[in-house]
Amino acid sequence: MEELYHFIDGKRVKGTSGRFADVFNPATGEVQARVPLASTEEMAAAVAGARAAQPAWAATNPQRRARVLMKFVGLLHRDMDKLAEALSREHGKTIPDAKGDVIRGLEVAEFCIGAPHLLKGEFTDGAGPGIDMYSLRQPIGIAAGITPFNFPAMIPMWKFCPAIAAGNAFILKPSERDPSVPLMLAELMQEAGLPDGILQVVNGDKEAVDAILDHEDIGAIGFVGSTPIAEYIYGRGCSNGKRVQCFGGAKNHMIIMPDADMDQAVDALVGAGYGAAGERCMAISVAVPVGQDTADRLIEKLAPRVEALKIAPYTGGDDVDFGPLVTAEAKKRVLGLVDRGVEQGAKLVVDGRNFSMQGYENGFFVGACLFDNVTRDMDIYRQEIFGPVLSTVRADSYEDALGLAMDHEYGNGTAIFTRDGDAARDFASRINIGMVGINVPIPVPLAYHTFGGWKKSGFGDLNQHGPDAFRFYTRTKTVTARWPSGIKDGGEFHFKPMD
Ligand code: NAD
Repeated sequence: MEELYHFIDGKRVKGTSGRFADVFNPATGEVQARVPLASTEEMAAAVAGARAAQPAWAATNPQRRARVLMKFVGLLHRDMDKLAEALSREHGKTIPDAKGDVIRGLEVAEFCIGAPHLLKGEFTDGAGPGIDMYSLRQPIGIAAGITPFNFPAMIPMWKFCPAIAAGNAFILKPSERDPSVPLMLAELMQEAGLPDGILQVVNGDKEAVDAILDHEDIGAIGFVGSTPIAEYIYGRGCSNGKRVQCFGGAKNHMIIMPDADMDQAVDALVGAGYGAAGERCMAISVAVPVGQDTADRLIEKLAPRVEALKIAPYTGGDDVDFGPLVTAEAKKRVLGLVDRGVEQGAKLVVDGRNFSMQGYENGFFVGACLFDNVTRDMDIYRQEIFGPVLSTVRADSYEDALGLAMDHEYGNGTAIFTRDGDAARDFASRINIGMVGINVPIPVPLAYHTFGGWKKSGFGDLNQHGPDAFRFYTRTKTVTARWPSGIKDGGEFHFKPMD
């Protein structure tokens, strides 16, 4: 069986802790590799390497740093098929979806090629007599990223591209479920010209994460994953004096107004609800039709589409809609929640619980499930399911639908489908959720805008990618410089306003 490794100081390094995690092929249920889980000492060694390498990288001019990313983008295109295959084999998503995962990261690398512009400071000429004031954006030093299993290419790139472009060294602790693509990305960065030690990939679990949280040389931490872990990392990282941003779970509502184009809304729900088996933080997991007639029309059109979805391994052809869940535990959890929904009185219109794939009986597949008549108090409404399960909550009015989304503890993404500009404007303005789609079901902002949720979906005050990323991975230094006309003016003993 393949034994994976860490990537430290430009080399593949075997794990020495003696602890490993199994990496599965979710389609077959087989263990295909094992990944080492780093000890506190292994993490410390990676941080020491990063610390030694970082000053020279920070001193490299930003245009040269950006050229590494320019080359990296070309290498991602060159290796796209290889990356997508490795990603699908460990994650289970379809090949087109895996390529989308790489591309959404690549776009952030492209954005970061603009680092020389994004890192420019501010300058006030003549803030006082002979006085200039200017601010610099300087790297933090060493930043770390702790990333989830569901986007093993995109999210690591969202983190390390801006951090490295800004002159930091970066420690990546990817998900132990699908670590191969992050390791491949680090080797591509090296091939693109990144000096050794600037991007370290350290595999691991809680021990490695805690070693990051407590290491005094790490100045900034970016996390993406579930909300309980986000809260833990935010609390412990901040109390250790670090700059921390954590992005957590989601329960994204899509409101369907009576005037919406129903075919368009149904297309959107099928893709956004079931794509990647619902394992997306921007998946739509709650459909909210406004009015009983809208709800009846929606369910009538949606149910046959959900029943017809093609579920198969990523090798199953171009028309596969989604694949298996990532682990047997994830499958068990999702099936348990579907059972709970039935027990608590929701109507299971499409029941995917008994789905089985011939030849892949041990795979972690769950068939598409569609619920109607879900209510606020049910577990399937309150919890993030993270599976191919869409819940329909019928709302009596627009205000009722708006209130529902606003009252939910999560606030990552949401969407409204309508032909009415007034309703759409009101929704975008009043909703307390970070990313809003108007007739767009998955409103993931492009690389040059920022990505982040509100409420229990985001902790910290800056978003991911876009200009915020350069603020997060740099600190501002403000310099007040006075060049006196000469010694004739003598000394200054009083703190004076600048007049
Ligand atoms: P997870 O929270 O289980 O794991 C995320 C990371 O935290 C992994 O690297 C993991 O090794 C580490 N981790 C897990 N348990 C830990 C512990 N006890 N202590 C310290 N570290 C720990 O999340 P996941 O299952 O990999 O990913 C799915 C979750 O991520 C979903 O909740 C999804 O909504 C969320 N997500 C959010 C966004 C966003 O931008 N808001 C994006 C993608 C995924």
